[in-house]
Amino acid sequence: MLSIVVPLYNEVEVLISFHDVLYEVLNKIKEPFELIYVDDGSTDGTAQLLEELHQQCDKVNVIFLTANFGHEAAMVAGLNAARGEYIFCMDGDLQHPPSMIPHMFQKIKEGYELVLMRKSSLKTYPLLRLLATRVYYCLLKVVLPHGFDPYISDFFVIKKRIRDIIVRQYVERTRLLRGILQSLGFKKAVLDYEPGWRKAGKSKYSFTSLGLLSLEMLSMFSEKPLRIGILLGFLMALFATIVGIYSLVMYFIDKPVSGYTTIVVLLSLVSAFQFILLGIIGNYVGFVFREIKKRPLYLIERTLFHES
Ligand code: UDP
Ligand code: MG
Repeated sequence: MLSIVVPLYNEVEVLISFHDVLYEVLNKIKEPFELIYVDDGSTDGTAQLLEELHQQCDKVNVIFLTANFGHEAAMVAGLNAARGEYIFCMDGDLQHPPSMIPHMFQKIKEGYELVLMRKSSLKTYPLLRLLATRVYYCLLKVVLPHGFDPYISDFFVIKKRIRDIIVRQYVERTRLLRGILQSLGFKKAVLDYEPGWRKAGKSKYSFTSLGLLSLEMLSMFSEKPLRIGILLGFLMALFATIVGIYSLVMYFIDKPVSGYTTIVVLLSLVSAFQFILLGIIGNYVGFVFREIKKRPLYLIERTLFHES
């Protein structure tokens, strides 16, 4: 059986068209399937619509979370409940085209444990987000382990065995599934897809929340940023030695350097470095803080499941 997990947050405008397209594609595959819609604390009528869909269609199962726990948490809730042998995960706004599902299924049946989807462009991003994303992806390439591809998205199919690993063994509070999936090893395939335009509704990520998410991702998979301080420290020490020797020499040959500009520039530079480093350390402290609290990733209000 195939399970399709879809996290949904305030998607009332697009849900029906998404469901229709998905249903049609899945019917053509001629394999048993179940849909698992996860309502991530929607406030716009998505929940009522999901209830109706559950009553009308025996493939539709729904998990209602008690509040908005975020995209990743909603995905984990759905993955946890999936009963199929092949488990798909995709966004519910038609940006992850359901038409790719047959290709993904075919690929995973060739003997792969996971098939990850890589967006072939960022064309659907608004200009500001596009620019910020480009910079951020370059940064990721430097910081993250070799082989990490930032274009791989939260659109994937995995075998049950991989699902068990990611929900039972990767129990960190701050999870980034597409990062974890890339780091698992196993026999995996990557397929390209052309991201679609959001059919209706708005992106749930503001510029700030994307920024925070990006910082999280940078500290989640790498400790490299923590070591920037050591590098900067050595650079500053080298610089200080050169400037120090120069000033001493000038002093002893009776041409003392008048240093107002140098002092102001250096002082601002050093304090800027220090604050950036403090911020980086703060980011990791926040990360550790969240982890040690070991709070649940999400809470379920109720579920509507058909017998499988
Ligand atoms: N989503 C969610 N919880 C959230 C934010 C988003 O379940 O707190 C869902 C959303 O309904 C959609 C998917 O995650 O199905 C991706 O969200 P969105 O399209 O807003 O992100 P973008 O494509 O802009 O990165
Ligand atoms: Mg989207």
